[in-house]
Amino acid sequence: MGATIETHCPYCSLQCGVRMRVEPSRAPVIEPTEFPTNRGGLCAKGWSAPELLDHPDRLTTPLVRDDRSGPLRPASWDEALDRVVAAIRRAQREYGAAAVGCFGGGGLTNEKAYQLGKFARVALRTPHIDYNGRFCMSSAATAANRAFGIDRGLPFPLADIAEADVVLLVGSNPADTLPPAMQYFDAGRARGAAHIVVDPRRTATARGGTVHLQPTPGTDLALANGLLHIAIREGYVDKTYVDGRTSGFDTVGAAVAAWWPDRVERVTGVGEAQLRRTVQLLGTATSAMILTARGAEQHSNGTDTAQAYINLALALGLPGRPHSGYGTITGQGNGQGGREHGQKADQLPGYRRIDDTAARAHVAAVWGVDPADLPGPGVSAVEMLDRLGTPGGVRALLVLASNIAVSAPDRDRVVARLSALDFLAVSDMFLSDTAALADVVLPTAQWAEEDGTMTNLEGRVIRRRRALAPPDGVLDDLALLAALAERLEAPGRFSADPRTVFDELRRASAGGIADYAGISYERIEAERGVFWPCPAADHPGTPRLFTDRFATADGRARFVRVDHHEPAESPDQEYPYVLTTGRIMQQYQSGNQTRRSRSLRLTADDPRAEIHPDLARRLGIGAADLVELRTRRGTAVFRAHLTDTIRPDTVFVPFHWGGPASANALTDPTLDRHSKMPAFKCCAVAMRRIGGP
Ligand code: SF4
Repeated sequence: MGATIETHCPYCSLQCGVRMRVEPSRAPVIEPTEFPTNRGGLCAKGWSAPELLDHPDRLTTPLVRDDRSGPLRPASWDEALDRVVAAIRRAQREYGAAAVGCFGGGGLTNEKAYQLGKFARVALRTPHIDYNGRFCMSSAATAANRAFGIDRGLPFPLADIAEADVVLLVGSNPADTLPPAMQYFDAGRARGAAHIVVDPRRTATARGGTVHLQPTPGTDLALANGLLHIAIREGYVDKTYVDGRTSGFDTVGAAVAAWWPDRVERVTGVGEAQLRRTVQLLGTATSAMILTARGAEQHSNGTDTAQAYINLALALGLPGRPHSGYGTITGQGNGQGGREHGQKADQLPGYRRIDDTAARAHVAAVWGVDPADLPGPGVSAVEMLDRLGTPGGVRALLVLASNIAVSAPDRDRVVARLSALDFLAVSDMFLSDTAALADVVLPTAQWAEEDGTMTNLEGRVIRRRRALAPPDGVLDDLALLAALAERLEAPGRFSADPRTVFDELRRASAGGIADYAGISYERIEAERGVFWPCPAADHPGTPRLFTDRFATADGRARFVRVDHHEPAESPDQEYPYVLTTGRIMQQYQSGNQTRRSRSLRLTADDPRAEIHPDLARRLGIGAADLVELRTRRGTAVFRAHLTDTIRPDTVFVPFHWGGPASANALTDPTLDRHSKMPAFKCCAVAMRRIGGP
């Protein structure tokens, strides 16, 4: 007897709806549904997702290592859990509670992200918890909080994109990263909308746009200040909106006064005519959106860069206007929900600050503990990784849903720090590069084997539904945390049941910024997702934010003065080119899942460096030659892809691979001072040919 279950793709923030057919003795198959985000669309990754479920690499038994230099061997769950608990107790005894850390992921369901945050604070009493979302949209989140008092990736439904007359997309390539979402952009263009794409590469998205601005990586902030300068000088500022709904404009206006177009061109490489056209399109549109993504945000000035585009949006009076506003396009499947429920070093559930007395009292009451027992803020992901195994740093680390050894910047240093730990435990479905370094590996369930909720890029809370049982020997992360909490004799209750955990999450979030109190599994089913904030069962949810006020104390949005600074690392004689990194359509994040997919490997099993033909000619590099890239952190080898779609001074590499083609062996770990986002998108690199095709 078969069954058909509606759930969602395991990968990116679009969370496309899929229908899964499960029959005895047959591999499960999926097809897209008409869910309001994907409306029948699905990308190659989504179509291939069932291949993961019975993949021969699947971990189905815990693995343990008897000594650091020895091999991993199969073990029972009792032995594995006992080892984790013994290592935690040893680290706590020898170094104190803060010597134990947790590292989570933006792919965890809301229930798991919530439970991991609670586990760290209540069962471990450690401040040391952070997650890989710090590498994702933390800069835009910080900027949005400063300006609007709230951080929701898109403050409007995705479908509004189709209705906007002008869209400015900065550092975003949805044609490759969110292919089904292109239907909204395509519909807009079919209506005559103008799309302006800012990207150092002429991506598939840029090729379909009306205007393509191709700045030097690391200069997006100067570009935004230059656009605002023109908007002010040419009278496009919406004075009524600025006076009535914002504060701080005069300071920002003064700060951009020096950004004349010729200066902007010198810094960014974008000419005056394109700057003026962009402002004219934005300034005369009835509805317009400014959307940023990682290309603008993953820099040592990423927060200020996102802020500069928010300043521009506010000056033009966009946020809160119909089919208009500022948003960031999140990346990971639960990148939005993953940062709302306490997985971040400085936050408690409901997007509450952990150093806020009232927030601590509220959450502690839900957890059944004394607020005085809750630890304070910890440190950000890279800061925690930097101190692994050092005096005062974390000595025992539990990693869930994250492949740090591939996804963190300056890979060699990260691997050295992971290897310096007294103890590393990793929960994963496959033996990732990070799990391969662990003392204990804990096999976990995956997308179609679990129940829970995810929050997509629009702030829409959706249901992930269980379609089949996990293989024998696999333990869902909620059950793992419950078993560990029990062995640690933790106070409070750690349920392994997703619905019970979600109901607790609702209570913990009530009254917070990300308020889920009125969202239930039943409502999500009935309404095909509910938008937060939703403070009560009879509240309709909030698809559109800022229509009449912002979430600040006075209801006004804040302009924030931001100034351009050179990137942390610029080209010089030794490293003469700019390196930038990003995604390709067929792969996802560290590739731990998608690199195992046979169908995806058929089309993308060959990490390639995009190099302009002029630069290649100067360096004697031919098509498909092997090239070595070298930065101050390390080296990596890629096959050359010669293309005039990239700037001649810039090299692009995808970040989905470890091993010799590891982009993050090259990247710069310098942090944005506000968000602690590493500078993934820009560093200085040298390059040479090392072999033929
Ligand atoms: Fe949709 Fe993203 Fe999955 Fe592709 S990877 S099918 S765009 S959710």
